[in-house]
Amino acid sequence: MPPTPCMLCQKNRAIVKRPKNHHKLCRECFLSTFENEVHHTIISSQLFYPGERVAIGASGGKDSTVLASVLKTLNERHGYGLDLVLLSIDEGIKGYRDDSLETVKRNATQYEMPLQIVGYDQLYGWTMDQVVETIGKKGNCTYCGVFRRQALDRGAKMLDIKHVVTGHNADDVAETVLMNLLRGDLPRLSRSTSIVTGNSSSEVKRSKPLKYAYEKEIVLYAHHKKLDYFSTECIYSPEAFRGTARSLIKSLEKVRPSAILDIVRSGEDMARLTPDKGQGGCDCGDGDGMGGCGSAAADTPGGEMAQMEARLKGQVESDSLETEVKTTSLTEVDGSVRLPIRGRRPKEVASGPLQTLGRCKKCGYMSSQDMCQACTLLENLNKNRADITI
Ligand SMILES: [Zn+2]
Ligand SMILES: [Zn+2]
Repeated sequence: MPPTPCMLCQKNRAIVKRPKNHHKLCRECFLSTFENEVHHTIISSQLFYPGERVAIGASGGKDSTVLASVLKTLNERHGYGLDLVLLSIDEGIKGYRDDSLETVKRNATQYEMPLQIVGYDQLYGWTMDQVVETIGKKGNCTYCGVFRRQALDRGAKMLDIKHVVTGHNADDVAETVLMNLLRGDLPRLSRSTSIVTGNSSSEVKRSKPLKYAYEKEIVLYAHHKKLDYFSTECIYSPEAFRGTARSLIKSLEKVRPSAILDIVRSGEDMARLTPDKGQGGCDCGDGDGMGGCGSAAADTPGGEMAQMEARLKGQVESDSLETEVKTTSLTEVDGSVRLPIRGRRPKEVASGPLQTLGRCKKCGYMSSQDMCQACTLLENLNKNRADITI
């Protein structure tokens, strides 16, 4: 059988069957198509401005490594004029970050980008190993996720950088859409689908330039570009609900390759119907797209599961999640027709801390509560530590 020619250039031999649409492409055409699509995402959402300093949340994993490589390529090719910096978080998990940080250090040399490493011990006084020693493995992903989310922002602030890009891919976003859909949490779904998170009151903007890139294509890109990345799973436990959503998405993808993008697009469409979009920070609920804690579902927050459990518990106790369906059928707002959206009960709105964004009274970090999640967790930890010492 003669070799299949590349669908695009008709010249070279096709060696890649794109997971996204099954197009058969040669290496060069695959790489440039992938890059062009990311470029399109960046341009169409006006992600950057010339001269902007941007920190790439870098773990040494495939997603962030591909992100760094592609951003460097596009920055040079299209003259974005970006000042790119690698920003890494060291959770303090022995034997886990050690190797991946070595990878990031090599990446810094390979991509000629400065690298900043911020440790949990520096930021919180606790390494993840110490957290696990204290609370055990169960639930530690909650800590890891909450700490890591702030760590990137704090690291960026230390560098006086206002924009952090992360390696979240289409699979990650689709997972989050499904999870929120399954929870019936449309407002959160809205926040999780937007390419930029954080809002005007947040000091550090977050975005995900690989939002439309399939995880499989990221792996292929890394492979064919011969990128130096580190692949391992976090030794601490993954989060069940995200893992399930992930398997579901992978199964759907097998039957219908476009499913991942379809879910992302559907999420975006549903987001347009929700009243409070843009509120609050990153609610993909997870870490950073950095291949951090929590398994192949690399960015597992852990926190989401806990939040869901808390919410379910609250539902039983106070029925507070019961929603009312507005009786109006279609309402016209600013000339655009809106579908009726389930609203929370007024009681919950009134007491809902998510509605305002203030500062944590302890650390001054942007928070919707009196005390930010990290400080709340830290308080628990420090109490535990005190108990032990006594
Ligand atoms: Zn080709
Ligand atoms: Zn705080």
